[in-house]
Amino acid sequence: MLLATDLDGTFLGGSQEQRQQLYQLIAAHPDIDLIFVTGRGLESVMPLLADPTIPQPEYIICDVGCTVVNGETLHPVGEVQSRIDDKWPGEYTIHAAVEHIEGLVRQDVPQERRCSYFVAPDIMEKHREELEAIGEKLDCDVLYSADLYLDFLPRNVNKGSTLTALVEHLNIDKADVMVAGDTLNDLSMYEYDFIGVCVGESEKGLTEATEGRARVYHASAPGAGGILEAISHFGFLGVEGIDAEGRDDIEPGGSDLVIVYHRLPYEEYIEDGEMKRRNHRSPNGIIPTLASFFKDGRKGAWVAWSITDPSLKEFEVHTEVDKEQYPNLVAARVGLTKDEVDIFYKRFSKEAFWPTLHTFWERASFVEEHWNVFCEVNRKFAEQTAKEAAEGATVWLHDYNLWMVPAYLREIRPDLNIAFFHHTYFPSADVFNVLPWRKEIVGSLLQCDYIGFHIPRQSENFIDVAKGVMPFEVTEKSGCAPRFLTYGCAVGLDEMTTEIKVNDRTIRLGAHPVGLDLKRVDTALEKPEIQNRMQELREELHGIKLVLSVERLDYTKGIPAKLEAFERLMEDHPELHGKVTLVTVCVPAAKEMTVYNELQNEIEQAVGRINGKYAHVGWTPVQFFFRAVPFEELVAYYAMADVMWITPLRDGLNLVAKEYVATQGKTEGKGVLVLSEFAGAAAEVKGAVLCNPHDPAEMAETCYFALSMHPDDAAARLNEAYDVVSYYDIAHWGQDFLDEVADSARKNGRGSADLTVVA
Ligand code: UDP
Repeated sequence: MLLATDLDGTFLGGSQEQRQQLYQLIAAHPDIDLIFVTGRGLESVMPLLADPTIPQPEYIICDVGCTVVNGETLHPVGEVQSRIDDKWPGEYTIHAAVEHIEGLVRQDVPQERRCSYFVAPDIMEKHREELEAIGEKLDCDVLYSADLYLDFLPRNVNKGSTLTALVEHLNIDKADVMVAGDTLNDLSMYEYDFIGVCVGESEKGLTEATEGRARVYHASAPGAGGILEAISHFGFLGVEGIDAEGRDDIEPGGSDLVIVYHRLPYEEYIEDGEMKRRNHRSPNGIIPTLASFFKDGRKGAWVAWSITDPSLKEFEVHTEVDKEQYPNLVAARVGLTKDEVDIFYKRFSKEAFWPTLHTFWERASFVEEHWNVFCEVNRKFAEQTAKEAAEGATVWLHDYNLWMVPAYLREIRPDLNIAFFHHTYFPSADVFNVLPWRKEIVGSLLQCDYIGFHIPRQSENFIDVAKGVMPFEVTEKSGCAPRFLTYGCAVGLDEMTTEIKVNDRTIRLGAHPVGLDLKRVDTALEKPEIQNRMQELREELHGIKLVLSVERLDYTKGIPAKLEAFERLMEDHPELHGKVTLVTVCVPAAKEMTVYNELQNEIEQAVGRINGKYAHVGWTPVQFFFRAVPFEELVAYYAMADVMWITPLRDGLNLVAKEYVATQGKTEGKGVLVLSEFAGAAAEVKGAVLCNPHDPAEMAETCYFALSMHPDDAAARLNEAYDVVSYYDIAHWGQDFLDEVADSARKNGRGSADLTVVA
């Protein structure tokens, strides 16, 4: 069956439930092909193609029949289109012929091979004959409708004529085609012997004109519901009708809150052919915080991947997390092969998305097959999530690895309250739009009820990207101060969009910089071995000031630029020789990440050059540690550092900066944080000395400024920063986020469980 349907008021009309039923029926039924037949211009149809809940058409006839394209490639259907093109005199010819008539205003909507104007009835009356004569001369139809719209179209081209030409071109039996519409401008579709439906609440003129025709069914339900009625009426899906075509519905599970995170709450490893588990060796504060939502016995699930190792007997989907602490939390494991993990997680995410998100798009490589694996893995995550979530449950998705989950999840579970937190930087449209799959990604994210980013700038960048994909209304904006910097840094912003309306859904957005678990810092500081390490460092430094930098080996972190700035500092300030040492802790990338080899060489050469130039017996200007330092030992370094020098070229947030402030705050230190104004933390942590990592002179100067700052000034700055870091800790972050999620659920009329964090 081929369904050729008008969009507004027909395919896109009716109740949300019936739309969903129709769309799912089409998606699940390989024998139903779809053609959109619309008055909209092609560009106005494109947003629908990015909406994952709407089935994709095989062909699109738009501009009231003047444009006909393939639904996937959007290339014109050659033969049919060229016959129309031959008749079209061109928009500038039309325009030149009518421009002397006052009161004709060109409609500012996308349009091709037609010219659409607004014109008031009195002006139309006055110029009707003249306009018709122009149409005659240029071989165009001149249509005036609704006392406002004037259209010039190629002669005898309309929705029905183009549909017929396409059906003939495709060699489809006319009896297999059903047309659907709701206004008089759809009438031409019913004039070519197709079976047809006028959906409920159709324009009177259309119902009257089609009254009494045996091949036309007049449905009672409006929009999509009317099409469903007609499919049953004409028996397109056999005797059992639509009911027989239902999807294999997934039964809702029992979890009120489902966390979907790439890592399990515990670490798995294989030993002696058996899968074993232990606590994460590199715990980040987020995992215990997310788990803490289940401390009160709330029923929940944690969806994450796990490798299906062929050497293991059976793959267990559900495992306990911690019976004592979280009695009703289960881990729901998504089994992935090692190949899938390598492509989805290690390669594609790191090679395509990571560079683009951090504005290094020229380093990105895009491989279509990898994208397919990425989508397939995301689909598996969505299916597992759908099985875990109770009716109306909240699902909290984490980060860009799971970008496509909302698209698949919304389709199977429209009842869910879907929230997404983006942990990495989100760039502006100029950069993000480089991604070949930007429409799919944005279309998927717009299925969420709530989307959170670290800082307002990232959220607003997302809004900017989304604007290029589909139209929406901004329904709420909020000022960013005093929580965030406005004009004070490169990633500051004074106002952000906090609510949009896409079709009939509300999406809320917010800025939630991840906080720290300050207890981890306390625990480290209380340990005698850490106290000893601090003492050792104090002795090793014997009066030399310590400038510290801690980061992963990554081009986003701006390590070569920092070394260059340090070299300049040594050159400009010889009085610092022997008095300042730069200690850099740089965590190497996994061995297989060969993209980082070149960067490592560059850094090693720079360190060698600086030390070769300035070192003397008893003093090494740069001490470079290419290894990961355990968190507790890092705390000892944080406590001893006079200046923390964190200068990424781009960073979602930067936790190291906050860890330094927390440690200094807890030890009553007078250290100075020098922070790149391109790190997300710069917009949040007041009191830091900001610098531009692209400007070596400023980098050197700010470091010098920090080294020579009066201790009272340093203490005042640190207090300001510590206030922020200690107040907005990780529990605060989690609770804030979930409060907003609950609020957006209410706005969309979805049930939401009480989402309280138990400290
Ligand atoms: N880290 C660590 N050992 C190291 C270096 C870093 O444990 O040798 C930790 C650090 O304490 C911080 C995290 O790694 O919690 C890095 O987070 P950040 O947000 O600064 O940067 P990202 O690596 O996420 O870009």
